[in-house]
Amino acid sequence: MAQEVILKDVNKVYPNGFHAVYDFNIEIQKGEFIVLCGPSGCGKSTTLRMIAGLEEISSGELLINNKKVNNVAPADRDIAMVFQNYALYAHMTVYHNMAFSLTIRKIDPVEIHARVMKAADILGLIPYLNRKPKQLSGGQRQRVALGRAIVRNPVVFLLDEPLSNLDAKLRGSMRKELMQLHERLNTTFIYVTHDQVEALTLATRIVVMKDGYVKQIASPKEMFDKPEDLFVAGFIGTPPMNIVDGTIDANLEYFTHDATGVQLKLTEHQTEILGSYAGKQVKFGIRPEYVYIDEKSLAKFKDSTVHMSIDYTEYLGAYNLVYAKFGEDPFVAKVTERNQIEVTEADFALDMEKAHFFDVETTKRIR
Ligand code: ATP
Repeated sequence: MAQEVILKDVNKVYPNGFHAVYDFNIEIQKGEFIVLCGPSGCGKSTTLRMIAGLEEISSGELLINNKKVNNVAPADRDIAMVFQNYALYAHMTVYHNMAFSLTIRKIDPVEIHARVMKAADILGLIPYLNRKPKQLSGGQRQRVALGRAIVRNPVVFLLDEPLSNLDAKLRGSMRKELMQLHERLNTTFIYVTHDQVEALTLATRIVVMKDGYVKQIASPKEMFDKPEDLFVAGFIGTPPMNIVDGTIDANLEYFTHDATGVQLKLTEHQTEILGSYAGKQVKFGIRPEYVYIDEKSLAKFKDSTVHMSIDYTEYLGAYNLVYAKFGEDPFVAKVTERNQIEVTEADFALDMEKAHFFDVETTKRIR
């Protein structure tokens, strides 16, 4: 398959000496939806801006369509960028906002009209073509910003937090529209967000960054099921993975929770992978989704059941979030009981097949 965008050992050091991106490596295939994700300041916008040509690449190589473009001007990179604030021209109609970049490129007016009308049709903007941006809703403005990118037929769409100015409900429906747009255009998208829900729902692959470093590149499912390290485990998923400290026994049979002495029986697979951790400290992780309080699960997972006190419960209709304490460690369960849970303590069953262990020193998942 064609590799559309390649970053090889890309670094960014800002003129003040701040090293914002370290050795970024990725090969992006045509039609992928790549989401760069991570907490504020991790370097995701800087990376996108380097691909766009809005920031110089300090070292490393950027290839678009097999051509090194480190020193190619943004306008000549076959990319189109959609910004957080949309950057629409206030004095121009929707039509002219979309046509503008083509007009200045001196493209044939007949061709311009055809491209604008096609984009407007895809985005449902035909009724608004004569309006100015201030006469549009937030979602409609967002669509115009996308339309401006679409008319350019770029090889790659770059999107920097395009939904962050919309309210939660509109964000949800725009997410769906973006997914459909991506399917329809079959073009490569590179998308920046700090919102891991957007990352999980939109991406073919997610890149999780922290402090300028790429922590993991994986599909949403892999990122959720097999986080490479503690940071990714805590960042992807809401509420985040429960993590507690403990020790593997000398016979590799149990994980013992340090604070309470509670023992959880290891699976056969865990006994195998934890071979070199006999008698050693590890971090134990389990997602709230794999902790249960129903009778059936308590019977099924009787070798990994923990009695905990409950601080409070959030009733969310289809499920409950139960905020408990494993000794002094906060511990959350996402349980599908439909009723409000009113008890102050309970037995919690942990599905050990879904548990992870992390090395205390390296923070990497043990596998
Ligand atoms: P956010 O979600 O807050 O936008 P981000 O992950 O997109 O964060 P970047 O904007 O890429 O982060 O910034 C990465 C780091 O580089 C931050 O610590 C930021 O302060 C720093 N930085 C950004 N621009 C410059 C600049 N022009 N000069 C020096 N440092 C900069």
